Amino acid sequence: MHYDVVIVGGGISGCSIAYTLSQYQLKVALLEKENDVAMKTTKANSGIIHAGYDPKPETKMARLNVRGAAIVHELAPKWNFRYAQIGSVVVGQTEEEHRMINELYRRGIANGVPGLKILKTEREVHAVEPYLAPGMDYALYAPSAAICSPWELCLAFAYNAKVNGVDFYFKDEVEAIEKKGDTYLLRGKQGEIETDAVINAAGVFADRIYELALGKDKDKSFHIIPCKGEYYLLDKEEGHLTNTVVFQCPSKVGKGVLVSRTVHGNLIVGPNADFQDNLGAKEDVSTTADALRFIRETSRRSVPSVDFGTNIRNFSGVRATLQNYNDFLIEESPYLPKFYNFAGIKSPGLSSAAAFGEEALKLLEASGVKLEKKEHIETYRLPKSFRDMTLEEQEAALKQDRRYGQIICRCETVPEAEIIAAMHAPIPATTIDAIKRRCNAGMGRCQGGFCGPKIFHLLMQELHLPYSEVYQDRDGSCVVVGKTKEGK
Ligand SMILES: Cc1cc2nc3c(=O)[nH]c(=O)nc-3n(C[C@H](O)[C@H](O)[C@H](O)COP(=O)(O)OP(=O)(O)OC[C@H]3O[C@@H](n4cnc5c(N)ncnc54)[C@H](O)[C@@H]3O)c2cc1C
Repeated sequence: MHYDVVIVGGGISGCSIAYTLSQYQLKVALLEKENDVAMKTTKANSGIIHAGYDPKPETKMARLNVRGAAIVHELAPKWNFRYAQIGSVVVGQTEEEHRMINELYRRGIANGVPGLKILKTEREVHAVEPYLAPGMDYALYAPSAAICSPWELCLAFAYNAKVNGVDFYFKDEVEAIEKKGDTYLLRGKQGEIETDAVINAAGVFADRIYELALGKDKDKSFHIIPCKGEYYLLDKEEGHLTNTVVFQCPSKVGKGVLVSRTVHGNLIVGPNADFQDNLGAKEDVSTTADALRFIRETSRRSVPSVDFGTNIRNFSGVRATLQNYNDFLIEESPYLPKFYNFAGIKSPGLSSAAAFGEEALKLLEASGVKLEKKEHIETYRLPKSFRDMTLEEQEAALKQDRRYGQIICRCETVPEAEIIAAMHAPIPATTIDAIKRRCNAGMGRCQGGFCGPKIFHLLMQELHLPYSEVYQDRDGSCVVVGKTKEGK
C-alpha cells in the first residue's frame, strides 16, 4: 500500500491533522496502536480550551493556542460537539500573585487574546465566582476560554477525516521505520505501508517513533519526559461551584490546581504535576493517595467548599514534556526529508491542535508537496443525544426507532438506539469505554455499574463478539474471562 502521507498517532494532534489533510487531493492514512482514537493523553486532561495568555509571546504555543481555540469555537456549532465558552479566571491575593496576574495579562495582550480584563477588588472577583475563598481580591478574567469533552472533540475530527477519505488503521503499533529512497516503509502490527511523508504525532512516544526513523542516528532524537497529572471528577451536584474555569495563580511553588465545571455538568479538580524519567511511566495512569491529598488540600485555597465525598472517579493523564525545550516542537526533521515531528505537545495541546493541520500544510508545501484542495468537503455532524432533544424530537425519534424507548444508562438517559448507533459511527465503537466516549453511557454517578453489563451484551449481539472478546477499553481488558458454571 502506498500513501502520500502517513500520520502516526490517533490523539487530538493526529486526528486534527488528518482532517485538514483530508480536504486536499492526498492519500492519507492514520496508524494508531490502540483500538480507538483518543486513547492516551487526549482522553485524560482538564478539557479546557485555554484562552492563550499563559504561553510566552512569540512561541509556537502562544500562536497555535489562540488560533486553535478560534477554530474549535467555529467548529462547535457545525459539528455539534459539546463546547461551552464559560471563560476563565486566574485568582490571587498576595503581591507576588498580583504581579504574576499582571504578567499573564501582558502576555495575553501580546498573544492576541480577546476580551482580557483584570478584576481588581474582592467584590468584583466574587461577583464572577461566589464560592471563592475570602481574600481573593485580584483576578485575570478571560472570556474566550472554553470547556469541551476532549475525546468527543477528537472523535469529531476523526469522523470528519474519515468521511473525507482518510484510512484509519487501529491496533497497528508502528514497530519499524525504514527510509527507502524517497519513501518511508512503516512496519506495524497490521503489515507494511509505504509513504512519501510521515507525520509523527505519537504523543509521549514521539521520541521513540523518531528514533525508529533515525535508525543508527537515533541519538539525534529528542527526549520526552512523562509528567503525570491526577484528577478528581465529582458528581453533578458539585457542578454549580464554579461559573468559569478557576485557576490558581502560578508561582515559584507550582501552578496550583484548577476547579471547573465540565461540559457534562460535573466538577473537575486537579491536576498535580509528577515528573518521572523512566520509560514505563509513559503508560502509567495510576492514581495515588499522595497526589490526591495534594489536590484536595491545594484546591481548598481557591474553592474551599468542594465536597470530595461526592467523588465519582479519579483518573490521570501523562504530559509529553520535552527535555530542555519549553515549546511545541513542530518541524521537518533536519535529518529526514518529509518526516515531520509534532512533539512535546503538552498543555495547551488540546486547545492548539485544531491549528496543527495548517502547520502540517505549511511544512508539506515547503518540502515541495503539491497541495490541491478538493472541490467538495463532507461534513459529519455528531448526532444530537436523546437527553438533549425536545419532547417533540424525542417522540419523533421513538416513532422512527422503538429502541429509543429502551433506556440503558439511567444516570445519563442513554437509550439503546444511541448505543447501537455508536457501534456504527464512522469510527465504530467496539468496546464498553468506546461506547461511553461516543454517547456518555457509563459517565454518570454509578460509572457503568448498572448499564455496563447491558452494554456488554449489546456489543456481543450487535458485533457478533464472543464474551471473551468484549473489552472494557484497551485490547485484552476482558470483563469476563470464563464461566464459573455451565447453564442449561
Ligand atoms: C494532566 C493533563 C492536563 C491537560 N490539560 C489540558 C487542557 O486543559 N487544555 C489543553 O489544551 N491541553 C491540556 N493538556 C494537554 C493535552 O491533553 C495534550 O496536549 C494532547 O492531548 C496531546 O495529544 P496528542 O495527540 O499529541 O497525544 P496523544 O493523545 O497521547 O496521542 C498520541 C497517540 O499516538 C499513539 N501511538 C504512540 N505510539 C504509537 C506507535 N508506535 N504506533 C501507533 N500509534 C502510536 C498513542 O496510542 C496515542 O493514541 C493536558 C495534559 C495533561 C496530561
